[in-house]
Order: sequence, then C-alpha cells, then structure tokens
Amino acid sequence: MKYNNVEFDTYFKNYPDKNGYFGKYGGSYVTPELARAMKEIAEAYETVCKSPDFIAELRRIRKEFQGRPTPVSYLKRLSASLGTGVHLYAKREDLNHTGAHKLNHCMGEALLAKYMGKKKVIAETGAGQHGVALATAAAYFGLECDIYMGSVDIKKQAPNVARMKVLGARVVEVTEGLATLKEAVDAAFAAYCREYKDAIYCIGSVVGPHPFPMMVRDFQSIVGIEAREQFIEMTGALPDAVVACVGGGSNSMGIFAGFLNDPVEIYGVEPLGRGEKMGDHAASLKYGEEGIMHGFNSIMLKDENGEPSPVYSVASGLDYPSSGPEHAFLHDIGRVKYDVVGDEETIDAFYTLSRMEGIIPAIESSHAVAYGIKLAKAMGKGSVLINLSGRGDKDMDYIIEKYGIR
Ligand SMILES: *Cc1c(COP(=O)(O)O)cnc(C)c1O
Repeated sequence: MKYNNVEFDTYFKNYPDKNGYFGKYGGSYVTPELARAMKEIAEAYETVCKSPDFIAELRRIRKEFQGRPTPVSYLKRLSASLGTGVHLYAKREDLNHTGAHKLNHCMGEALLAKYMGKKKVIAETGAGQHGVALATAAAYFGLECDIYMGSVDIKKQAPNVARMKVLGARVVEVTEGLATLKEAVDAAFAAYCREYKDAIYCIGSVVGPHPFPMMVRDFQSIVGIEAREQFIEMTGALPDAVVACVGGGSNSMGIFAGFLNDPVEIYGVEPLGRGEKMGDHAASLKYGEEGIMHGFNSIMLKDENGEPSPVYSVASGLDYPSSGPEHAFLHDIGRVKYDVVGDEETIDAFYTLSRMEGIIPAIESSHAVAYGIKLAKAMGKGSVLINLSGRGDKDMDYIIEKYGIR
C-alpha cells in the first residue's frame, strides 16, 4: 500500500534508514563518546535481531514470563451504550506482566544487554513506570540495575520507588535543577558515558538517538502483530480504526506497526491536559515544531529560548515535550492522524470503562479510550480497536484524592 509516496509494503526495511532517519526525523545527535556507544548497540542489535537463538529466547520469555499473547476484548456493554452500531475492542496490554506494555521493550533491551555481555542496565525514570519495568527485566536476567530519578519524583512516586528497590534495583537520587525527569535523563546519560563498557542504557520509549526509536518499535510491534491476527480471527475483518495514546510513542508505535500497511484509519492521541496554553498540555505533535532534544530530531514543544518547554498532563506517562521521530514522520505524511484529549474527558473515560467493562485503565490509556468513544460516536458504523496500554492500579490513590468517586 502506497501512502503519500511512501511504500508501506517495504516500510520496515526502509524506515529508518541506516543512519536512523525517518524522513528528516530521528538520527543521532550525541557526543562522540556516546556516538561510539550507540554504534556498538546498533551493531549488536543488527546481529541479534537476525539471530534465531535471540528470537526464540524472546518468544519464550514473552509466552512463559510476560503472559503473551495478551487478549483482545470486545467491549460489549460500552459499544451497546453508544447506540451507534459501532463496535469497540481493546488490546489488553494491561494484562501484560507488570501491568503495561513497557515490559515488551524492557525484556528485549535486557536480553540484548545479556547478548552483549553487559553486567548492568541504566535508565532514568519520571513517574517510575519505566524504572519498575526495567528493574523487573534486570531481576529476571540477573543484571545490575541503576535507575536515576529526580528527588521531587522520588517523593511523589513512593510506591514505584519501593517496587524498584524490592526488585533489587539501585534508585539514584538526582538533586540538580528542578530535580525531575530532565535532570534524571542528564544524570543517566552521564553515568552511561562513564560506564558504557559494562553497562547498557535502556530508553523507555521510541525516543532518543538511533537505534532506540527503531529497536523499541521493533520490540513493541508484537502488540500490533498479535492484535491484527486476533482481531481478524474474532471478526473476520480488519478494524476500521486503531487508536492509541502517545507520550514518547512506544505503545502506539507497537500497535500501529501491525496496521500501517492496511486500509485502516490510525489515530494517535496526545494529552491536552488543562487546555491549549503552553505549559498546560503535552501535545507536542499538534502544537510543536521541529527541533533536536535528547539526541534526536523530531517535533517538540519549545519555550521562548528554544529549550524543551514545561509540559503538563494528568497522566504522568504522557507528559513529555516531544514524541518519537517516527511519529513526527507519520504525522507529516498524514498516514497517522494525531488529535488531543484533555484531562476531564480522560477521567470520564476512566470511569466509563471501569463501570461498563470491569476494566480499570491507566490514566494514559484512558486518553485512548476517550478518543475511541468520541470516534465511535462520529463514525455511525464499523469497528474501533483501542490499545489499552496499561492498568489503572497505579493511579487509584491519585484519582480518588483529586477527582473522588464519581
Ligand atoms: C509510559 C506509559 C505510556 C506512555 O508511553 P508511550 O511510550 O507513549 O507508550 C502509556 N501508557 C502507559 C500505561 C504507560 O505506562
């Protein structure tokens, strides 16, 4: 299938190119020292992703440890309640071990670390979700795990800090600057530069320098591959639309990967937070412009000095001032449509799915649910597949405190 001069039959062979570009987006903008380390990772990945042993091992882990394949569920009561004849379905990444899609790429990254003979994995974390997933993978493989986290986030995310420690990870407190995610990224990169002979840096989404946007997409694409097969088996056809939330963009790239070459409408949902004013949302593709941050070229939200702007969303997993380069590319060619959903609609959707289907979604995933419902109302007929990236247990205390029981 050809779309705006991009051939999707051969898409995954050609995107990214060998330098990590999706059109003009992506690449690797790092110090010479880090460039060497990234090249080592890229070369190792090129080798293992063709290795039957590596592939067999990853398959076994997904099945026996993660509990894959995760099911696709028909959202029967929710669909009926719309009264439109549109059928809603959910791909259940909330049922993946640790309760979200993040383990899909963390297990891949940690298995790569093992193949490269590394002893340690290093990462930063904001809300702690990536830290917990990576600490889980490290425990499974017997790797050391250093998670860099701002002191402000350490205080806010006590349960995830406890989880990482129980899993045997070292949580390294970062006190510089505002002491949140950005400083944690800087500290983790610095640590990696010091330790790259023994360690590998594990990025938490389809962002960062090449090869991470490609590698994380490839590891996450199992979500889309499974979902496509399951959906056809259940309904005898493809869905008319696929919807996923976009923070850095990993769960969305995962499910989109299964449908890019199909006649399926694809929607990425960004967080509108409190509204359109800069600082009140994290809708980088909708309101951002081209720029380089954290080692890659993409579309990003900048402040008046050209620095990454402050962002906000009720979902801490979505408040990132950019998105992966592949999303910027798919946005520009129009293959994926990107739209926004704000906090209020998200919380409504959180309660709607909980009450109507007995599934408590993560606040991040609730953005996709809200959009899926809106889309279904507008469509009149057909089917919508929503990627339910994670479960909402982690969000319970916050929702009850801030919004109460509705
Ligand atoms: C981290 C997270 C996200 C956002 O990350 P992406 O890379 O955009 O997928 C979405 N949903 C859940 C449940 C998360 O934990």
